[in-house]
Amino acid sequence: MTPNQAKKLYIETVGCQMNVLDSELVVGSLRRQGYVLTSEETDADVILFNTCSVRQHAEDKIYSALGRLRRHKRSHPETLIGVLGCMAQKDQELIRRRAPHVDIVCGTGQLARLPELIDEVRRTGKPTMALSLDRTESRHEVEASFESYDPLRDPSMRPSPFQASVRIMIGCDKFCTYCIVPSVRGPEQSRPPAHIAAEVRQLAAEGCKEITLLGQTVNSYKHQAGDGRQYRLGDLLALIHDTQGIERIKFITNFPRDMSDDLLDAVRDLPRVSKYLHVPAQSGCNDVLRRMKRLYTVEFYRDMLARSRDKVPGVAISSDFIVGFPGESEESFQRTCDLVRDAGFKNSYIFKYSPRPGTKGHEMFADDIPEEVKRRRNNDLLAVQNQRSQEDNRRFQGQRVRVLVEGPSKTALKSDSPGPRQLTGRSCTDHIVVFDGNERRTGRMIEVDIEETSALTLFGRVVTEERIGGDVAAASVRESRVSLPVVI
Ligand code: SF4
Repeated sequence: MTPNQAKKLYIETVGCQMNVLDSELVVGSLRRQGYVLTSEETDADVILFNTCSVRQHAEDKIYSALGRLRRHKRSHPETLIGVLGCMAQKDQELIRRRAPHVDIVCGTGQLARLPELIDEVRRTGKPTMALSLDRTESRHEVEASFESYDPLRDPSMRPSPFQASVRIMIGCDKFCTYCIVPSVRGPEQSRPPAHIAAEVRQLAAEGCKEITLLGQTVNSYKHQAGDGRQYRLGDLLALIHDTQGIERIKFITNFPRDMSDDLLDAVRDLPRVSKYLHVPAQSGCNDVLRRMKRLYTVEFYRDMLARSRDKVPGVAISSDFIVGFPGESEESFQRTCDLVRDAGFKNSYIFKYSPRPGTKGHEMFADDIPEEVKRRRNNDLLAVQNQRSQEDNRRFQGQRVRVLVEGPSKTALKSDSPGPRQLTGRSCTDHIVVFDGNERRTGRMIEVDIEETSALTLFGRVVTEERIGGDVAAASVRESRVSLPVVI
């Protein structure tokens, strides 16, 4: 490589929106070092995998990618390979053993050091690693080692130029027995509201219309400001609500026990806050919830749903469920089906239990539900949810909804026929809406009359269009964006 030749970076991301945001930040900092993105891993000078440890499948995917690169590394020893994020934090020694050709292992809290680690490997020719401390050290030391990593961002890594995530807290203090997050993301720490507000203003200036506030338990957000005032999530929503250019604010993921009345009041009263709550229940059976250490009962969860609907009329709620948790009897599973039948969730994300070494659940319980039973329960619960969603979505037929246009629908992306395309966007209750229109509408707020519905989608016809920002702002955002070389 000659000195003037740009260095090429390939990055592949697995996992949740936190990881997608981490990748955006990593790309932002490496671009400042002169890197450009490439979508070809074998063309890159630095190949990075930003990993997830929540399920075995996500880890297998990374080991298989690393195995694929073994021969490439042998013939191109100057190419650097790095494993970042949750798997790096949890399994540094295992990665070294299974993939000795990896040069950099960098945990979740240390991503800001990546440019320095790359330089170190180039200088010394030796592999390196940077990891946050584990919880055996003092809380202060552990917190400091998980320092958040937010100032550098890269618009080209976002799902769309009009949408961005903002991390408002890191870590988790809940310790559900199946979950690896507290070990790999560290203790719960909330960012100062002034930093968050400044980041939202910067994103709005770059053309973002929709902001999603991220936290593992986002509604546990709590920050004591210098003047002694305590900010909760509701206060934060009020603080950023009037940021010029921001049209919609969402927040994920909520912990059921922390769904406070003042937060629900804020969701109801602030018009730009999406009337949508993602609140994972995980199970409809108290025995299972106790073994999961979820800190609430099904009765509490049902009350929380009723309170949310009472306070925020029309609010849409979605959930997560784990099926096949150790000891989940057929009766326990039926209780979960009952909850899904009764709750009227907009949708549910359903996962089969996967034991994770390093979690309490892995130490305490045998993985005693056979794989075919997990699979059957997954399908059965999905069928219950889909039927419920289909019934509930019918209430939108004949209604008018406001939609932020996200771009061509999946079907339109596959087709190259000329003329109006099928576009997609989300309503203020986070329902997916599909309609015909011109791609120029992307990033605009429009009104759509809903004519048909399915379990997952509302189909409609455009009525009006509000211009947000204007063509000049939209065009400059489009220009700053490159194609997304990220596999998620
Ligand atoms: S609340 Fe439970 S499931 Fe969610 S991140 Fe924390 S430990 Fe994991």
